[in-house]
Amino acid sequence: MRIDHAEVIPLAVPLSRTFYGGTYAIDRRCTLLLRLRTDDGLRGQIYIGDERDAQAEVCRQLTQTLFPRILGRRPSDVTAIWEALFRLTLPARGRRVMMQALSALDAALWDLLGRQAGLPVFRLLGAAQTRLRPIVIGGYYEEGKGVEGLIEEIEGYRQAGYAGVKFKVGGQPPAVDIERVRRVRAAVGDDFLIACDANMGYSVEEAIAFARGVADCHIAWFEEPVHWYDQVRGMRAVRAATGLRVAAGQSELHRWGCRDLVEGGAVDILNADLSLAGGVTEWRRIAAHAAAYGVRMAHHEEPLLAMHLLASTPQGLYPEYFSAERDPIGAFLPLDPPRPQDGWVTLPETPGFGIEVDEAFVQRYRVDR
Ligand SMILES: [Mg+2]
Repeated sequence: MRIDHAEVIPLAVPLSRTFYGGTYAIDRRCTLLLRLRTDDGLRGQIYIGDERDAQAEVCRQLTQTLFPRILGRRPSDVTAIWEALFRLTLPARGRRVMMQALSALDAALWDLLGRQAGLPVFRLLGAAQTRLRPIVIGGYYEEGKGVEGLIEEIEGYRQAGYAGVKFKVGGQPPAVDIERVRRVRAAVGDDFLIACDANMGYSVEEAIAFARGVADCHIAWFEEPVHWYDQVRGMRAVRAATGLRVAAGQSELHRWGCRDLVEGGAVDILNADLSLAGGVTEWRRIAAHAAAYGVRMAHHEEPLLAMHLLASTPQGLYPEYFSAERDPIGAFLPLDPPRPQDGWVTLPETPGFGIEVDEAFVQRYRVDR
């Protein structure tokens, strides 16, 4: 069985409003739809990533550089393919783009392997769990929203079947964010998970002040608490000073970056993202290393892919979703995806990543024509 066709379709969907996190604003949702085929007619398909600035460049690297190198190869050569393609990141320029292209292709190969074996990817990798606790990313900053609007938003997530929320902080002074979190926790009660994500928006001192201010709010973890330039020492300081669990890893491109977070004592939870950090192949290496340090695994976005990785290891935690308004692709592109219900999501038993898509949606939002 050899790969005889590879294709990528870029999609971009404008959002109905702009979403503000601690350090950014988002007004559209982008993704890549990858399709592979083998010479005996097997077809695989995933959508992956949310690259907004360099989407066309990632596509160009896939079609011009990577696809020609996998045509004629066996999907089961996935590790050899990974090693060969990773060498293309050695020149300094365009590494982030190349890692996204490699990551997407690697994940598409694992999808194909699953479909070939007739197994969902989490079983192909060796299932450790068959259901997970889904959370939703919310608590965005919004003009005029107020704490009442926040509470209404979070209550809606509980009713939608999520186990918890990952809440945006880091975009206001700590005292303001502390008040937002305290009021929401008091309103929703203690049985709904709340994690806080600063998106690197605080200094170390601000992060410690925030964490101390929410110390009795049962915060599940504090994600990317400090600015980008002081990650390892800064997050270690936050952990030591507050006792709050710290999560990071979504900004890393590879196992070495994650290794430094783990061995530097910076994190309790790694949320490495397969769409950036080398696909399924590299994510599994990252998780194996983390396990030796008692570090749990989360995943940044991509719930339909991430749930397979998280379920393939006993250290895997919560797949994370967006609302339909923040992520119209997740809401309307896949046909019949597994849905959160009563605080759980059950892994699908369909082969590969099990993703089938709405063709009309693809034709409407593709940006390559
Ligand atoms: Mg995050």
